[in-house]
Order: sequence, then C-alpha cells, then structure tokens
Amino acid sequence: MWTNAIAWLALTTFLSQIPLPLNVPLLGANVGAVFVLLSVAYWIFADALTTLLVALVTTTWAVLPLSPWGPDHGVAGFVVPLVVFTAAGLTARYAHVYHHEHASFLNGAHPFDAALDTTHAVVWGAFHFTLEGLLREGYRRKLVAELDEHERRTLRTGEQVRWINWARLASCRARFVSTPQSIEDLVWAVREARSRGLHVRVVASGFSWSSLVPSDDALIFCERLNRITVDASDGAHPTVWVEAGVTNRELNRELARHGLCMPWNVVLETVRVAGIASTGTHGTGKLTSTVGDLVLAFEVVDAAGELRVLSEETVGAEIMNAARLGLGLFGVIARIKLRVVPMYRVRQTDQRIAATEMLERLPSLVETHDSVELYWFPFNRDVWMRTIDRTDAPRTSASHGFWLRTLNFLQNAAAIVFFDFVTKLVPAITPALLRVGMFMLPFRTRVLDLPESHHYHHWIEIMPAGCLEVGFKADADFANVRRAWATTERVVDAYAKRGLYPLNISLNVRFIGSSRTLLTPAYGAGMTCYVEIMWMGRPKGWAELSSELCRAWLEVPGAMPHWSKEFEHVPGVVPIIRASLGDRHARFLAALAKPGVDPDRTFWNPLVHRLLDETTPT
Ligand SMILES: Cc1cc2nc3c(=O)[nH]c(=O)nc-3n(C[C@H](O)[C@H](O)[C@H](O)COP(=O)(O)OP(=O)(O)OC[C@H]3O[C@@H](n4cnc5c(N)ncnc54)[C@H](O)[C@@H]3O)c2cc1C
Repeated sequence: MWTNAIAWLALTTFLSQIPLPLNVPLLGANVGAVFVLLSVAYWIFADALTTLLVALVTTTWAVLPLSPWGPDHGVAGFVVPLVVFTAAGLTARYAHVYHHEHASFLNGAHPFDAALDTTHAVVWGAFHFTLEGLLREGYRRKLVAELDEHERRTLRTGEQVRWINWARLASCRARFVSTPQSIEDLVWAVREARSRGLHVRVVASGFSWSSLVPSDDALIFCERLNRITVDASDGAHPTVWVEAGVTNRELNRELARHGLCMPWNVVLETVRVAGIASTGTHGTGKLTSTVGDLVLAFEVVDAAGELRVLSEETVGAEIMNAARLGLGLFGVIARIKLRVVPMYRVRQTDQRIAATEMLERLPSLVETHDSVELYWFPFNRDVWMRTIDRTDAPRTSASHGFWLRTLNFLQNAAAIVFFDFVTKLVPAITPALLRVGMFMLPFRTRVLDLPESHHYHHWIEIMPAGCLEVGFKADADFANVRRAWATTERVVDAYAKRGLYPLNISLNVRFIGSSRTLLTPAYGAGMTCYVEIMWMGRPKGWAELSSELCRAWLEVPGAMPHWSKEFEHVPGVVPIIRASLGDRHARFLAALAKPGVDPDRTFWNPLVHRLLDETTPT
C-alpha cells in the first residue's frame, strides 16, 4: 500500500509540473490538479470516505512547504517524480509476484478489462487497498455482503478458461473452472464437473514444469482453501491439518508461531501443500525423504463427490504409499494431515571447493554432514558446496532478512538479463559469465532456523528457468554419482566445442534418504541422489543436451525423472520410467483401484495416461 501511495503522489506531482489556465483551489493551475479532480469524480461513485481521502492526501502533499508541487521546478520537477513513480510501480509489481496470486484468469477475461484493472491498480492502488482494509474492519457491511456474493459467484464457476503454467510450457482451455472458498464449495465443484460429464484436474500454484495439471475438461483452483489447524497437544508428535491451497510461506509462518516446522521441504515458498504432496518433491539431507512421506492423512473428494479420509488406519499402508505421490489421482485433496517437528537450528556452510577434490571426498562428506548439496556452474573448475548440520548454536544475525531477499532479487534479475538476453545475443560469452557468477557468490557460515535453510533462495518466481531432474539410488562408493557428474562435464564441453552453450545456469546435486512412496526413485532402502540441470531461456541445443543428459543419468537401474520437472521432450522416456518402476507400476494401479476413489479414471489427464495407463502405448 505504501508503495502505491508513493506512486500516486509521484504521478500527480509529475502532472502538476504542466501548467494549465484553470485554477483549482489549493492545488493550483496545473494538469495534476485537474487529474486529482477527475480522480475525486471517479471515486465518488464507489465510496465517500475514499473520495475524501484522495482529496485530503493529495492536497496535504501539495500545500506542504517543501513539496515540489506545481510548475517552476525545472527538469528535476519532471524527472524525480517520474523515477520515484517507476520505482514504486516496479516494487508494487514485484510485491505482487512475491505474494503470488495465481488465478490470473480472475483478473478479467477480456484484455481491455484487464488493462483497466491494471491502470486502476497502478494509479489508485493506495486508496483501493485502504478501502479494502476498512471493509475488512467492518465498514459498510452491506457493501461487504454484496462484494462477497459477487466474489463467490465469480469464483464458483467459469467457462472456457485458458490456463498456462508458470514455466509457460503446459497449457489448456478448461470447459469449466471453479475456485472453491471452502471444502463445501470444493465438493460442489467436483459434483458439478461430474454432472457435466467432465474429467477433473486441480491447480495448486502451477509451478510444475510438466503437463501434470492441464485438462480441457474441468480445472479446480485450490488456492482459496487456505486454513491451517495445528495440533501440538502431543509434544512428541505434533501434527497439522492443512487445506490444499496453503502455501509453504503460510504454513511456515503458522508453524513457527507454535515453535514447529516442516522437517524437510522444497526450495520454493509459493508452492501449495497439495502440489508438493502429490509429485514426490524433496529437499536435501540424508535424513530426509519426500514431502509425501510426511503425510499422515488426506481428506479427499472422490469421483462420486463424497468426502473421505485416506490414512493408514482407513485404507492401509500400501494404498497410502501410493497416494503419498498420487499425481492428483486419489481424488481432489481438500486437506492434508502432516507430521511436523519442533523448530531447530542448523549450521549452513557455503564453500568453494575444486570439483575433483569434492568428488574424491564425496563419500566422507555425505557421511559426516546431515546434508551436502552441490552446485556447479559450467566452465568453472570449482563447485559451490553447501553443508547443513543440526546445531544448538545461537542464530546468527546475518540471516534471511531484507538484505538476503534484496540480494536474491538482484541475482535473479541479473540472471534474466545476462543468461537469458545477453547469452541469446552472444552465446560464446556464457562461460565467462558463469565464471563471474561463481566469483560473485558469498561463501560463509550461518546459523539459521531450519525453514530458512529450506527456502534459501527468494524471488525465483521472477525467473522461469528450464529444469530437468533425475533421481537414482547412489552406489555405496558414489561411483554412479561421479559418473553422472563426469557425463555432465563431458557433454557440456562437447556442446561448447560446437559453439553451443545450452546449460547456462547450473548442475545441482542433492541427496535424500529412503522413501515409502511407490512412485519415487527414492523408494526403498539406500540414499537417493538427485541430479538437476537448470537453464535460462531456451538456448540453442537445450532440448538435445537435456535429453542426452537425462538418458545418460537414467541408465542407472531404477532411475527416474522428477515427475513435475521437464522430461516429456526426452525421446523414449516413458518406457524407461516404466522399466524403472518395475512391479511398482502395477502395485500403484492396484492401490489406486482398491479404495474405489475413482473407478472411471475421472482424475486422469493426458500426461498421466501416457505415463501410467497400461493400455496406452508408450
Ligand atoms: C523455482 C522452483 C523451485 C522448485 N524447487 C523444488 C525443490 O527444491 N524440490 C522439489 O522436489 N521440487 C521443486 N520444485 C518443483 C515443485 O515443488 C513441484 O512442481 C510442485 O508440485 C509445485 O507445486 P504447485 O503448488 O505449483 O503444484 P502444481 O504444479 O499446481 O500441481 C502439482 C500436481 O499436484 C496436483 N494437485 C494440486 N492440488 C491438488 C489437489 N488439491 N488435489 C489433487 N491434486 C492436486 C496437480 O494436479 C498436479 O498434478 C520447484 C519448482 C520451481 C518452479
């Protein structure tokens, strides 16, 4: 709101520099004064108090002794307000990205309506938000009831809605959409879709790269299901019931209020629990597992539109182990019961180390530390190695505050400029840029609360990079990890010799412990290694290089791509996945059939059919 208020004052001050032969009391004879009058006229139809606020705030600013209001301030009178307006506008825009409201289809179906909405937000956002705040505090109850009813109707049903995921790789045009605000609404939405004879898929935040979400039938947006109920009554086994659309950020905040946290998690904070508990997501650390492994129960709406609870008590362990990486097939998730832990701190150490030394010491490094995570920026001799260990040491001041977030924002903005735009123009500059990038990384030790170490990189939402990841069981001596690493270096070099630099961000390596969930490469005993590549833009050769690496990494028996990352473009990938799954494919389908949540495969979409349908040719 404050940035919008500054933007408003900057805009009107800028306009006030242009003289006009029409005097407005207190505001003078200038375009800014007339614009304020027009704004007052605009707001008077909505609310008298807000109208008064527009007039009062602007007039107070205009008559302040040091205010640069009105003509006669020279070039600075134009330039300074314009710079302030742009900066405040950009801040407001990125605050919007940061808080990530996903259902963009609600912003107005017609581009003209959307443009009007944006103009309104950019120009009068401060007054709009003030009015909203007042309404929330009980001002104009009748209007609130009308707006609530309007919102409910808008959210309940939409038709022919186009949707695209964050990475802009997977899209659909849904015949029917609904954004339930309560679990009753969710039940209604599923029944309504079924009564129309439609298949149903759900969008959490849409951060999955693969086409797991799209359905041209019915799409349900679960982002308004955001209630959290913490149960810390058993101090040794705290749990939390979380509605499907709760984001990691909301969950972390609520858990922290109770001195609790997730024992492991993904990096991104704007994903929603139902999304991360459906796709086999993971963090880092040999004592960790997949997010699905933290699930104690799912409350789902089945294909008949009935609410039911899936837990080991109600359906048994095998079915739960399938549902814990259910890809949205075990019904529409309404709520999830998660195991959580008392908050603790970790010592996080970032070091620069030669790749050869790191590879040699890898077994002992992984043995010694709770977590070892590696980042290699191609064409560098060294790697960034992060170790994480539980500690009782006090939290250091250099934590995840304003400066880290600002630094992350600038790093990501630089990545967009350099690795997307510049390398597109001059691809051969990629190695030099990656070396500079490595040089600029801060290497230090910090003591953090565990969630800060999970979500160490902020603002990733602004840079939709490409991403492919494969998981496999690490050999006892890490020989297959070393091979995966060496293959990456060799392939990157071979492409560079051809003048191609498609891997223009990083190779990331993480290790996790064993998992119970049937469809993950981490299933069963032993440590799992996840190797992941990320690239910006779509540099020449990205599809060939990522396919080549993916297929090479998948040679390890049991290896599988991450379900929500990019893999659909890799030739022959589905037969490899099915071979890696072995009998777990049939076990998964049997577990899915047994509780009868979806006898007609209502919750399947084309990608799931391609991956799992025993009758679909691979
Ligand atoms: C920048 C970035 C960083 C990431 N970091 C990591 C990481 O560290 N580790 C990792 O493992 N992954 C990571 N991922 C991947 C990400 O965690 C997964 O793609 C996750 O599934 C996305 O969550 P979402 O809320 O966007 O879900 P969506 O992509 O919207 O949905 C994922 C799946 O869940 C299903 N689903 C969603 N809600 C429901 C519901 N209510 N009922 C039934 N099914 C539902 C959807 O249909 C879909 O099949 C990252 C992704 C990005 C973009």
